[in-house]
Amino acid sequence: MTENLKNKVAIITGAARGIGREIAITLATEGADISICDIDTDGLSKTAEEIKSSGRKVFWLKTDVSREDDVKKAVDKTVEEFGRIDILVNNAGITKDNLLIRMSEDEWNRVIDVNLKSVFLFTKYAGKYMMKGRYGKIVNISSVVGIMGNAGQANYSASKAGIIGLTKTSARELAARNITVNAVAPGFIQTEMTKNLPDNVKEMFLKNVPLKRMGYVKDIANAVRFLVSPESDYITGQVIQVDGGLLM
Ligand code: NAP
Repeated sequence: MTENLKNKVAIITGAARGIGREIAITLATEGADISICDIDTDGLSKTAEEIKSSGRKVFWLKTDVSREDDVKKAVDKTVEEFGRIDILVNNAGITKDNLLIRMSEDEWNRVIDVNLKSVFLFTKYAGKYMMKGRYGKIVNISSVVGIMGNAGQANYSASKAGIIGLTKTSARELAARNITVNAVAPGFIQTEMTKNLPDNVKEMFLKNVPLKRMGYVKDIANAVRFLVSPESDYITGQVIQVDGGLLM
C-alpha cells in the first residue's frame, strides 16, 4: 500500500458490486475516504463494511444516478460528511440489449439516462466543489463498445461513446482549475453484467482477445487507481483501453 490518496475523498457510483465495488476498495486501500452510491442498498452496505475494515471512513447513500435530485443530494451529503471531494469515478451502468429495429424508446432512454446523463450530472455537481478546491480527478467508465460498436447494443454503445465526448469536453473546461478528466474503456470483464451471456458469445469475444482471458475487476481498478493518483497529473482527456488487446 502506497497511501498515495491519503486525505483525499472519493465518490464512486455503482459501487454495490462488480467493477465499482473493486474500485472503491482499491482507493480505500490507497488511503482515500470513500463515498459510495448505488440503487442496491444491501450491496452498498457490504462494500461499506469492507472499506471500514481497511480503516478508512466510508459514507453511503442510496442514489439513482439518473435522477438529478438524487445526484445533487449524494454530492452535497458527501461534502457535509467529509468537507471536500477530490475524486469522482462515474462507474454505474446498465445494459438493455436489443436489435436496433426492435429497441423500444424506454430501452433507449433508460440506458442513456443511467449511463450517460449520470456522468453529466455528477460532473456538474461534484465539479463545482472540485473547482472551488482547485483540484480534482474524474474518471468515467466507458467501454470498448463505445469505440467499436456492437450489434444489439445501440443504446449502450451510444451511451459509452457519449461518455468519451463528455470526458474530452469536461477535460477542456476543467483543466484551468487543475482538474483532470479521463475515461477507462474496459473490454470483456468478469462481472454480473457479463455472467449470463451465452457461451457462444463469450467464446466469440475471447477468440478476439490476444491475452486470451476475460478481464478481472482488479484490472480496471488498477487503471483507475493510476488515473486518480499524482502519477497521472499530466494526463487529461484520454481514453485508456483495458481490454487484453481486443481493440487495437
Ligand atoms: P454490474 O456488476 O452490473 O454493476 C453495476 C452496478 O450499478 C450495480 O450495483 C447496479 O445496481 C448499479 N446501478 C444500476 N443502475 C443504477 C442506477 N440507476 N443508479 C445507481 N446505481 C445503479 O456492472 P459492472 O460489470 O461492474 O460494470 C460497471 C461499469 O463498467 C458499467 O458502467 C459498465 O457499463 C462498464 N463496463 C463493464 C464491462 C464488463 O465486461 N463487465 C465492460 C465494459 C464496460 P443493481 O445491481 O441494483 O442494478
